[in-house]
Amino acid sequence: MSEHSKVQVGDVTISSDKHTYIAGPCSVENQEQIFTVAEHVIKNGATILRGGAYKPRTSPTAFQGLGERGLELLFSAGKKFNVPVLTEVMDSSQIETIIKASCGHPFIFQIGARNALNYFLLREVGKTGMPVLLKRGKGAMVSEMISASEYITIGGSPVIMCERGIMSFSSASGIGRFTADHMAILKFQEAGFLTIFDPSHPAGKREYVTPLALSAVALGANGTVVEVHNNPAVALSDKDQALTLEDFSLLMRKAKGIEMALEICSEVIKEEQLV
Ligand code: PEP
Ligand code: MN
Repeated sequence: MSEHSKVQVGDVTISSDKHTYIAGPCSVENQEQIFTVAEHVIKNGATILRGGAYKPRTSPTAFQGLGERGLELLFSAGKKFNVPVLTEVMDSSQIETIIKASCGHPFIFQIGARNALNYFLLREVGKTGMPVLLKRGKGAMVSEMISASEYITIGGSPVIMCERGIMSFSSASGIGRFTADHMAILKFQEAGFLTIFDPSHPAGKREYVTPLALSAVALGANGTVVEVHNNPAVALSDKDQALTLEDFSLLMRKAKGIEMALEICSEVIKEEQLV
């Protein structure tokens, strides 16, 4: 097994033994939003809460995240519901701010698609020793991502890879926001990385999120990170792809069903091989 085969964050172990569910809003918006979403996703099987405080937005006039106030709200929700959190760091100047805001509460740094090959940031984040979720750049090759991960691990932080879709002929012609590249999940795993799938950003639209998410559970991804909002119609970022609370409960029931079916199937195969 490789050095990436288990990543510990607080009481949660991300490993190839079981699928890890990470859920929460694209952006932390206010106390009611993050607490409502956190309570729901955790009650329904998520073990890590996501939420962006620093948002990489295509337009500089779009909502940029609540910054330090967002971190404060996210960590207080993480503490209240006793789960680690996942939040994006966009610039090395934010590393210390995030660590301070955590007050020792366990968390994972997210490196977003736009910074996937920002080697200076990767190196700085890696020096913290904290776990890092490295999202694939929208035009980055698998081999480039593997090399990028070394900038992080060189400093001591463990890396979890995240496939979140790439720009392709399909996406350029309007099929999905990005193209989910399932093969990349297998290739990252083959290279020894725990790999989490993000169905929200390739889907772009809520109705595609659940089927895409389920496909990666069936494929054997090590986890899912998905965007959920208590009122998507008024979400300040990525509203079209946010699952409602009800959508999330349904997704979890189906995902657990797939996990169970796979488990039963391998038990049956094992028994058959014994006779
Ligand atoms: C996000 O997770 O909200 C996000 C901005 O993701 P990505 O970097 O994959 O676009
Ligand atoms: Mn988003």
